[in-house]
Amino acid sequence: MQDADILIINASELVTCAGPVTGRIGDDLGKLDIIRDGALAITGGRIVAVGPTDALLSAWRGKETIDAGHRLVSPGFVDAHSHLLFGGDRCCEYEGKVKGRILGANLETGINATIQATRRADDRTLVEQALSDLDEALLYGTTTLEAKTGYGLSRDHELRLLRLTSGLEHEVDILPTFLGAHVLPDEYRNRRDEYVQLVIDMLPDVLPYTRSCDVACDPACFTAAECLRIGRHARELGMTLRVHADQTGDAGGAAVAAALGAASADHLDQSSAEGLRAMAAAGTVGIFFPGVTFHMLEMVPPLTEDGIGAAEKPYMPQSVRRALQAGVVCAISADFNPGSCPSISMQMMMQMAMRLFRLSYAEVWNMSTLNPAVSLGLAADRGSLEPGKRADVLIWNEIDHRRAVNRFGSNRVDTVMKSGRIVVRGQNLIRSTAAPAKSASPAG
Ligand SMILES: [Zn+2]
Repeated sequence: MQDADILIINASELVTCAGPVTGRIGDDLGKLDIIRDGALAITGGRIVAVGPTDALLSAWRGKETIDAGHRLVSPGFVDAHSHLLFGGDRCCEYEGKVKGRILGANLETGINATIQATRRADDRTLVEQALSDLDEALLYGTTTLEAKTGYGLSRDHELRLLRLTSGLEHEVDILPTFLGAHVLPDEYRNRRDEYVQLVIDMLPDVLPYTRSCDVACDPACFTAAECLRIGRHARELGMTLRVHADQTGDAGGAAVAAALGAASADHLDQSSAEGLRAMAAAGTVGIFFPGVTFHMLEMVPPLTEDGIGAAEKPYMPQSVRRALQAGVVCAISADFNPGSCPSISMQMMMQMAMRLFRLSYAEVWNMSTLNPAVSLGLAADRGSLEPGKRADVLIWNEIDHRRAVNRFGSNRVDTVMKSGRIVVRGQNLIRSTAAPAKSASPAG
């Protein structure tokens, strides 16, 4: 017998989401690794064995045993794209958008409103709101979250957002990204080059906080040439690139991401087929946002005078399908932000992705766990339940991985384990530093 710190046994399904560290792709994306009546052994916060409960119990002895009670067990969600720190909200503009009173892309004014509110907000307000949002993410099963700046857009404000993001103390692992090139701030309206140069000049100063840099390559944001210029400087400093690509139009963002060897290119609504193929060749992960599709009404035609109109741009399901067909490793994330996706629930994203993007159960599970971990360079460490990986584990109030997606809206995660420690039990946050040594066995 081998000793482990913790055994989790009697999972109706242990959905491991196991796969190559380069991510699941093509037909392989539609395959989901499931162990019926599964179990796992954990030592030092890491998984040391997975298998059927019988086999595990005959080989491993746990100091603590958690009985999953014949329920679904899965990896924690990896959310690879969020705008965590921001001031205010954008409720006031949303009804106008829904009713068709705001015409065209409102991206710029919307973001500028948030930039002003973020600059005005004091540190404490921003941090308290972020911690509250992180609590919600954790309760819904997110255990790793990428968090971008991008609502400061001056040296002082961007560095403040990075400092605050890096200082957040929470059970969710937070990976900060510098997004100085989010949109052109109002005060630089006729001085694009000056702002691009400012972002480049800021790069050495952000290194103490992050090695991850995002640029927005979009007709409403920055050109391909500007993004390449910033991206190459970032790369010379050893930074990893991420790209907001082609959301409101094809700005060549997918190709820029590929040329920079970016870890991810996100949105890709209007990307060219050549750009997507270049991403596939470069190993750049494509990240899609069902919450944005839903909230920005991208699945319904825009309103016209008589209340009925034809869709003017390709539906998002086409974008995902095109990227999959081009051989891109695809993931989904929340893109939590006040304007285009005021939801941080990856559970909801997985549920919406199946419907809006016409994906299979297996595809949305892999796209919420392993594949986003690939985009963060963390697939060897998390994103699936495999020996050697971090014990970020969810126990669901469901018996079947399909039901966890088929239902939607309510929270079906009961227990969250982060690096081998129970941090949510019975849908309640467990905050005592002296974690109870006793078994966290749920009823049944
Ligand atoms: Zn974003």
